[in-house]
Amino acid sequence: MTQLPLRALLASALGRSAATLSRMTGRGDGSVIGGRVGLLLEPDLLRQLARDRKLALVSATNGKTTTTRLITSALLEMGEVATNAFGANMPAGHVSALSQQKGAPYGVLEVDEKYLPEVLNTTGASVVCLMNLSRDQMDRAAEIWLLAQKWRKALSGKPTHVIANCDDPLVTWGASTAAKVTWVSGGQRWKEDSWCCPECGGPLDRKDADWACRECTFHRPEPQWVLDDDAAIDPQGQRWLLDIQLPGQANRSNAVMALAVADAFGLPVERALPRLREVTSVAGRYTTVEREGRHARLLLAKNPAGWLEAFDVTDPQCPIILSVNAQGPDGRDTSWLWDVDYRILRGRPVFVTGQRRLDLALRLDVAEVPFTLCGTFSEALAMQPPGKVDVIANYTAFQQIRSEFGRAV
Ligand SMILES: [Zn+2]
Repeated sequence: MTQLPLRALLASALGRSAATLSRMTGRGDGSVIGGRVGLLLEPDLLRQLARDRKLALVSATNGKTTTTRLITSALLEMGEVATNAFGANMPAGHVSALSQQKGAPYGVLEVDEKYLPEVLNTTGASVVCLMNLSRDQMDRAAEIWLLAQKWRKALSGKPTHVIANCDDPLVTWGASTAAKVTWVSGGQRWKEDSWCCPECGGPLDRKDADWACRECTFHRPEPQWVLDDDAAIDPQGQRWLLDIQLPGQANRSNAVMALAVADAFGLPVERALPRLREVTSVAGRYTTVEREGRHARLLLAKNPAGWLEAFDVTDPQCPIILSVNAQGPDGRDTSWLWDVDYRILRGRPVFVTGQRRLDLALRLDVAEVPFTLCGTFSEALAMQPPGKVDVIANYTAFQQIRSEFGRAV
């Protein structure tokens, strides 16, 4: 690798010191503040840190943290990998990740959907992985078509190799201006945001995974990689049993995307797949925390699509605790609760907590799901018999539970 210019070296070193200070004073993991300090001193720092590395950017509404982790795990098979493991997915977080692992020849960066064009332009990443686009918070619902349009513009005219989920029409549209695309049939559980053709606004006809616009030529491209139940089918037609430890269909989809990205880096499935199987939890998700004989498995669901994925993972035999907050990172508007079909929870003991427990209670009542209202998560947990319990929480509710349990990994 070529040496960084002096100014960039200094900026990067000072950023790392700021991150260390921030960690030592208990203000978080420091990855954002460190990057901010670095960028303040050298606005061109991200571009300089990205130079001479082979980078993959990972973006989506759901699953980007997990997929980033899976790809990183796979690429470690080839050498050192720089990555923003703590989900700091804007440029300051990227600067921090790359400056902490200056010698790493590879980088895998989770990128916020809105920042993808900027980060792609700055880093010149050679691989971009795009998985799904759906509404996150109701006050941001109209943005996803505009986001896809910005992706199109950013990818156009670049040599970037895009790995994209062709089961999501909006992602397909967003990726299709790229010079080279590998299409992956990764499935699409949440379809409510893609009944219209992103190209012409006409209705989309769907049959199983396939889709096509009734009014223009826009249609689902032929996938090279396919998620087929619990296996991945590679471009040569070979079937690989995934057998990963992360639960649920959404994670199997993330795993197939990761295999396709690894392939774009020249890493074959037989070397990548065992590495994916080593991943057991991602930033506290899917971990089990224990208190007095109750084993609570933590699932994060930030938006309607995320709730469907979480339901898919839960055990119908277990009681379930739901916790919904409405602080800044969650979005203050919880009207999306009405978009989630909670009837699947009928017949299970359901416990409701969090700041917006009354909103959730009303929603469950209308869906005719019996539940118990609890003041706090601890109270809800104490009401469980010893044994397994599933927990689904949105962002800040999830973080609260994690910090209460000592940030279990
Ligand atoms: Zn159309």
